[in-house]
Amino acid sequence: MRSVTLCAPGELRVDTVPVPEPSEGELLIRVQAATTCGTDLKAWRRGHPQIPMPGPLGHEYSGDVVAVGPNSRFAVGDAVMGVHSAPCGHCRWCQADQPNLCESIMETKVLGAYAEYLLVPARIAAVNVYPKPADLSYAQAALLEPLACVAQGIIEIQRILGEQTGTVLVIGPGAIGLMFGAMLKQAGWDVTVAGRNPARLQIGTEMGLSCVPLSELDACDGFDVVIECTGQVEVWEKSIDYARRGGLLMLFGGPPGGTRASFNTHRLHYDQITLLSPFHFGPPAVRKAYEALTQGLDLSPLISGERTLDQAAETFTDLESGRGMKYVFTP
Ligand SMILES: [Zn+2]
Ligand SMILES: [Zn+2]
Repeated sequence: MRSVTLCAPGELRVDTVPVPEPSEGELLIRVQAATTCGTDLKAWRRGHPQIPMPGPLGHEYSGDVVAVGPNSRFAVGDAVMGVHSAPCGHCRWCQADQPNLCESIMETKVLGAYAEYLLVPARIAAVNVYPKPADLSYAQAALLEPLACVAQGIIEIQRILGEQTGTVLVIGPGAIGLMFGAMLKQAGWDVTVAGRNPARLQIGTEMGLSCVPLSELDACDGFDVVIECTGQVEVWEKSIDYARRGGLLMLFGGPPGGTRASFNTHRLHYDQITLLSPFHFGPPAVRKAYEALTQGLDLSPLISGERTLDQAAETFTDLESGRGMKYVFTP
């Protein structure tokens, strides 16, 4: 089968490798859609601690089951959508209801969705793969993984606010920011998305979100919840200004390793701002994302176009140049 390998920064190659065979609990999926992701772009640009190089690339997928190992929950012919990681269920973090922080969630993840076939390990197939409804496109189904990251953020907000809603400001109209906007709007929040990139704000507008340039945002508005989705330290530091007294600030975008951020201590303490900064996702977040997608959350404006595996190199060059938000490979 053909599979995209990230050889070195900026260097992608399409290799021919054997089609894997599923063993106990595993699934072999004929990939129908695999979407590009900011993490893949970071890895392509300069390598990524979580993505071995040289190694296979791609972790957002949907497709059809073509072979199963013994004791599989799925059958040949099932259309499925899944994520690329799952917690162990018994480590300290799993026991503490923080499966997103499971000590082995990262080492056991699967990469290689930019390929004709993907072997899904038993641990993932057991909890984090779902049947794809016929009326949901493969491309949108592949967005289960990034949407699960967003759903984890919303779960963390709900741990504090319960089912309460209010005003929320999302800073950074990339795919993750717009998914936050769409999912929170679906849940009844009054959503504003702010950013610098007019083309991306325009996509947000197409999704029915209220979008404004960051420069036009009035810091006095005081949002109940502010969600930072740029991963830039200066935005981390600035974003607290937009939270109301007693409000909640979620720092969602991960800045580069070794960076530091500082905050006005007066705001943090006397204005009692709650800070959250969730990482990755656990099975409840995957389920929440699945329910949102199957209940009609339309994320199609996020997809910039379809590509073949042979176009992998030009696809990442396009993303690097700011052309397009998310492409879908149809291997
Ligand atoms: Zn991703
Ligand atoms: Zn664990």
